[in-house]
Amino acid sequence: MLHHMTTRVSDQRALADRFGRVATDLRVSLTDRCNLRCSYCMPAEGLDWLPGEQVLTDDEVVRLIGVAVQHLGVHEVRFTGGEPLVRRGLVDIVRRTRALGDDLDVSMTSNALGLARTATALAEAGLDRVNVSLDTVRADTFHTITRRDRFDDVVAGLAAAQAAGLGPVKVNAVLLRGVNDDQAPELLRWCLDHGYDLRFIEQMPLDAQHGWHRDAMVTADEIFAMLEQEFVLEPAEEPRGSAPAELFTVDGGPGTVGVIASVTRPFCGDCDRVRLTADGQVRNCLFAREESDLRTAMRAGASDEELADRWVVAMRGKAAGHGIDDETFLQPARPMSAIGG
Ligand code: SAM
Ligand code: SF4
Repeated sequence: MLHHMTTRVSDQRALADRFGRVATDLRVSLTDRCNLRCSYCMPAEGLDWLPGEQVLTDDEVVRLIGVAVQHLGVHEVRFTGGEPLVRRGLVDIVRRTRALGDDLDVSMTSNALGLARTATALAEAGLDRVNVSLDTVRADTFHTITRRDRFDDVVAGLAAAQAAGLGPVKVNAVLLRGVNDDQAPELLRWCLDHGYDLRFIEQMPLDAQHGWHRDAMVTADEIFAMLEQEFVLEPAEEPRGSAPAELFTVDGGPGTVGVIASVTRPFCGDCDRVRLTADGQVRNCLFAREESDLRTAMRAGASDEELADRWVVAMRGKAAGHGIDDETFLQPARPMSAIGG
């Protein structure tokens, strides 16, 4: 049965890999579906969504999060997708996750469509914070990037999140050459005016269409150069630790801006993340080429202990780095929306 398929690695279990890193931050994808079609993420026609029976039920998701928190030392849970707000059971999943521990940090990365309606319920259920993805503050550019005319909904969602206490509200932005790469300063100005913490993220080779090219990517150095034409940036005192953003105060503070140079200055050596896909696969890295199937084991009757053992084994295979700059680099088979960004 399942027993001889798993290896007990140690009694004091943690999600440690062979390079001394320990994962304590769990990213949980609640669905691979989305109501936007950001060009760097999905093709216009969408993707073949996971068949319903493969997607974990609410009970199954909460059980696996419980295994991670209660057996494996995870103390941060972030819901993502696809778009987590399209998952019907979201508020209940948040509530049951919160019940796993008051000191658990529970957050969500979202495109904010519909957040205006649910922000209060999510805060009451125990969500601590949200990160909202927004790459432009121009409605026409928003439409170009996301292929949907929903800019106002995102703005309303952000405001509702702030009002509901889901702060500090962070905004994640990706710059695309020839599309919004001239808009970095105005996006920062807008975020400072609204009290949102902006983070630029370098575009990564994770789109379903495999349209990423190193030469076309807007680099962190370019982003700094553009921002410094209008703002004075100084390294913020906050230690970087495992947080991937390089943080700067803007014009003497208190506003800050971050740049996440995943490609040009990888932070793999400090990575403390592990991912669970909507269909119950553990991924030890965004760029992993292998996954460990917890869903099948769980549905076959594995105990929490056995699931924890499998998870530990899955982490041992984590690679030292993503290797995007290696000639042998291969994009993972699944796109970002299916892995959970
Ligand atoms: N739908 C939610 C959202 O957009 O926030 C959550 C999922 S989305 C995949 C998570 C994050 O990944 C977003 O901030 C998005 O901008 C980012 N993302 C998607 N594709 C990316 C890519 N190819 N390179 C860098 N970031 C990407
Ligand atoms: Fe949807 Fe987020 Fe991907 Fe945009 S980045 S298509 S909002 S999953």
